[in-house]
Amino acid sequence: MEAVGDRDRKILVAGTGPAGLIAALMLAHAGLAVTLVGPRPQGRDRRTVALMRPSLDAIEPLGVLEKLLPETAPLKAMRLVDATGRLVRSPTVTFHAGEIGEDFFGLNIPNARLTEVLSRAVNAAPLVEWHESLVETWACEGDRVTAKLENGEMIAAKLAVAADGRGSPARAAAGISAKTRTLPQAALVLNFKHAREHGFVSTELHTKTGPCTQVPLPGMRSSLVWVLRPEDAERMNSLGDQELSMRIEEQFSSMLGRVTVEPGRQIYPLSTLMPSRFGQNRVALVGEAAHVFPPISAQGLNLGIRDVEDLVAVASAFPDDPGGTGAMNRYHAARRADVLARANSVNLLNASLLSGFLPAQLARSAGLSIVGSVPPLRALFMREGMRPGSGFSALLPFRGRGPAAESRS
Ligand SMILES: Cc1cc2nc3c(=O)[nH]c(=O)nc-3n(C[C@H](O)[C@H](O)[C@H](O)COP(=O)(O)OP(=O)(O)OC[C@H]3O[C@@H](n4cnc5c(N)ncnc54)[C@H](O)[C@@H]3O)c2cc1C
Repeated sequence: MEAVGDRDRKILVAGTGPAGLIAALMLAHAGLAVTLVGPRPQGRDRRTVALMRPSLDAIEPLGVLEKLLPETAPLKAMRLVDATGRLVRSPTVTFHAGEIGEDFFGLNIPNARLTEVLSRAVNAAPLVEWHESLVETWACEGDRVTAKLENGEMIAAKLAVAADGRGSPARAAAGISAKTRTLPQAALVLNFKHAREHGFVSTELHTKTGPCTQVPLPGMRSSLVWVLRPEDAERMNSLGDQELSMRIEEQFSSMLGRVTVEPGRQIYPLSTLMPSRFGQNRVALVGEAAHVFPPISAQGLNLGIRDVEDLVAVASAFPDDPGGTGAMNRYHAARRADVLARANSVNLLNASLLSGFLPAQLARSAGLSIVGSVPPLRALFMREGMRPGSGFSALLPFRGRGPAAESRS
């Protein structure tokens, strides 16, 4: 295949969801030229994303946060409520950001607005060249990876960043296998108005079918992610606004007063995905190409931003060949522990909710009771929830979170 011009000196980023747009901008911010391939986001995603302080710090230099602020709400406290109705129940645990000296844990941001603001920043970034097309075929051969686009263009690069979502064609082309599992769950997603103030508290109800999470939006509004059996999610979605509003009010025991759902509901079928490698054959995985798990405790895109931070560190450490074997091994080593730890804890918590098995319920209950009642553990849990390693590093005389981070210092 013949590549066009000098494009193979640029890093190719495939995918224009939040992970791909952030990857393009952060690589460019580090002085690396990028070819971005993917369609312009259409603003159809009705989800909101809770980005924690470390993620906000990571994207702050991109100059996008101030444009997002009017439509975001800070998360000042997080409440976990056992609503399983089972024999063994965990106590309600509330974490306040003030306990660890922070004003807030993170910001809740509408996804459509996030990708719109990121897209504008990409348009204004001189080091990013955006091709609004899809990659049709990939070839990972020798010292380059080549993408043939649907519009007929050919693009070659020493490193391709697969930000092309859970089905990632780039991951498959690099020969990276992935274990996937379809879960017996789907998330009903919507926004709603409520009569009482949320006080910037997010409440995660742990139910027998999964978490049901309210996250504050500006004013007397919140977003909802309600994880149900797929057939129940469809049933709920078929209800009229008034009936569904009543169900949500009931679910939260009228904690927020009268509820009024807003137009624009969506259902997301849930699954898990874990790849065998995070980088191989000049392809590095970020975002949902690299990990998928259920929406518990706002982990997915936060982890995706950490993928990108490590990728930028590796690409900067290997300027001559950012996609070579040394760079890919470094990237794999940097991401493995973080992704495995997050995926395991989220999948375990999810499985313990679905499980009718008493020991699993006891373990979840005991874990939350201990974490909730021992002050040093509360602080550790809160810091670890925002960024892995930060809870432990606050207790230890050194900092750092793996090979990619070490290479930066
Ligand atoms: C209900 C729900 C709630 C969530 N809440 C949170 C939260 O509060 N906090 C959090 O951190 N995470 C959350 N997540 C996870 C978060 O939404 C995902 O991690 C994030 O959206 C993934 O973004 P992505 O860019 O990796 O993938 P996607 O958004 O799927 O983007 C993939 C992109 O690749 C493009 N693409 C596909 N094929 C090709 C091709 N051949 N060529 C070029 N481009 C291609 C697509 O067009 C798309 O633009 C939630 C997830 C769910 C399901």
